[in-house]
Amino acid sequence: MLYKAREIEIGNIPLGGNNPVRIQSMCSTNTMDTFATVDQSIRMVEAGCEYVRITAPGVKDAENLYKIKNELHKKGYNNPLIADIHFNPKAAEVAAGIVEKVRINPGNYVDKRQTKAINYSQKEYDQELERIEERLFPLIEICKKKSTAMRIGINHGSLSDRIINRYGNTANGMLESAIEFIKICENFNYRNIVLSMKSSNIRVMLQATRLLVKKMIELRMDYPLHLGVTEAGSGEDGRIKSAIGIGSLLQQGIGDTIRVSLTEDPEFEIPVAKAIVKNYALNRTSNNSYYNSNNFFEHNSENYEYSKRKSISVRNIGGSNKAVLISNQKLLDEDYLFKNKKITENETKSSFPIFNTKEYLQKTNKAEFHFININLNQDLPLEESFIEKIKSDETAVLIAEANKNSGFEDFKTFFEKLNKENCQNAVILKKTYKNQNINELVIQSSVDFGSLLIEGFGDGIWINSDFDEKTVNLNQLALGILQACGSRISKAEYIACPSCGRTLFDIQKALEKIQNATKHLKGLKIAVMGCIVNGPGEMADADYGYVGAGPGKITLYKNKQIIKKNIEQEKAIEELIKLIEESEIEGIKGIREI
Ligand code: SF4
Repeated sequence: MLYKAREIEIGNIPLGGNNPVRIQSMCSTNTMDTFATVDQSIRMVEAGCEYVRITAPGVKDAENLYKIKNELHKKGYNNPLIADIHFNPKAAEVAAGIVEKVRINPGNYVDKRQTKAINYSQKEYDQELERIEERLFPLIEICKKKSTAMRIGINHGSLSDRIINRYGNTANGMLESAIEFIKICENFNYRNIVLSMKSSNIRVMLQATRLLVKKMIELRMDYPLHLGVTEAGSGEDGRIKSAIGIGSLLQQGIGDTIRVSLTEDPEFEIPVAKAIVKNYALNRTSNNSYYNSNNFFEHNSENYEYSKRKSISVRNIGGSNKAVLISNQKLLDEDYLFKNKKITENETKSSFPIFNTKEYLQKTNKAEFHFININLNQDLPLEESFIEKIKSDETAVLIAEANKNSGFEDFKTFFEKLNKENCQNAVILKKTYKNQNINELVIQSSVDFGSLLIEGFGDGIWINSDFDEKTVNLNQLALGILQACGSRISKAEYIACPSCGRTLFDIQKALEKIQNATKHLKGLKIAVMGCIVNGPGEMADADYGYVGAGPGKITLYKNKQIIKKNIEQEKAIEELIKLIEESEIEGIKGIREI
């Protein structure tokens, strides 16, 4: 079945339907600072941002949106504004009378965090839902009257305790939370709705979004979708994470608006978002550009959970081995170097041949370990004789190579065939990039490889590019992609929010300093979050957290527990590193293995 979103009205820029995928971002200024917010909004719009989101933590901030909107209009900027609301229905109601769209988070709109777990009886649960409906009703009425749109924005990190108690902190919990709010809106005949299912974990974000689309198809709903990976961090790793999550869905026809969240000034998010849309959003005027729920990947697992394609292990490739790299650039011991038409194992220095499909079919003697290069642009459909031969060849690793003229669809055809024939040879994904700028290379390689790895396809990757080592470190890029997909962990990971008007410290500087001090701690997840209101919930599975607690104050966490409260900002980084050193002493000496 195809999924095609309805068109909804958001000021002068409609969303969904046949409209192009819209790009949005969010101000990191204090909402009460009208001029700073206006200036930043203009920089965002000039960069290509279509909707500008601004936080409204309280009623005063919500009221100030009026001034901000007026100033922008005076300067000739009429882009729709979105108010971002957490915990404050009153602020939402004020904002809904001013801006074109409000974003609410069902995890904290009415439900509050509880200190102890409650096991709701069905009656109590239903009473809670009635309470939510009552509290949501005034907002819906204002939205209807003012033609204001609403995003029901579910975050994996901030599900309500009520939902978590019943469904767990899972993609299914996210789905339930969304459906509850949609149904309330529909009960009041309000349908100007956008939905989002965000997580800092790409697998969870993909699973939740697909579950939601499947459910909407079943319920005959057709609301547009906002895509994003929360707390993606900064620099290359932040771009990689965002590109994989958003690009994977866009290239399958899911998604109507996107926000790339980086811990950088918001205008820097826009070129990344544009590159993802340009390369991966389908042409939305044709019917086959819409999401098809019969897609092969969707059937990889019934509940859309991650599962890896079964493959045979040869040397250290395939099976349960971590993903490997083949590279033209000097690399780590456990990986493979391509030089002089041969592939050499770095550790043992043994070299292995690569055959093309024709050479392989002519080959009669049983070689030991060897690679077979399958050019997806020329060798599809795979010949039956070829399939028969590789099926019984347990020493062969396949290299599936895409070039400029081939990509996702060809990989899909290739894996479908292997699956159908029960052919379990390990597969290295290869793609060649020529004449590109570095930013495009990062985005494209992230989506091209990441969208397959994240579905469990591929036992290794080979980014083949004409960039030299001094210009682009292809191995670092490849390891970043593998880490983002959970296919191989090679360094520390950072979960960092993009910051907003609630952030009261220089989060970009703090993140940079923390990264420099901890990047060698392989496998650790360290969160750097702007505020104590949303930060602790959103940092989900981080090992350590550095969270803004008030002006100039930071609170440190270890595994969700507060360890030190309200430390002076100047001392907080040092304290965090001390805390990690004390707890991870083995890791500091060695590099913690996970
Ligand atoms: S966690 Fe960061 S982006 Fe989210 S509300 Fe707090 S400061 Fe803003």
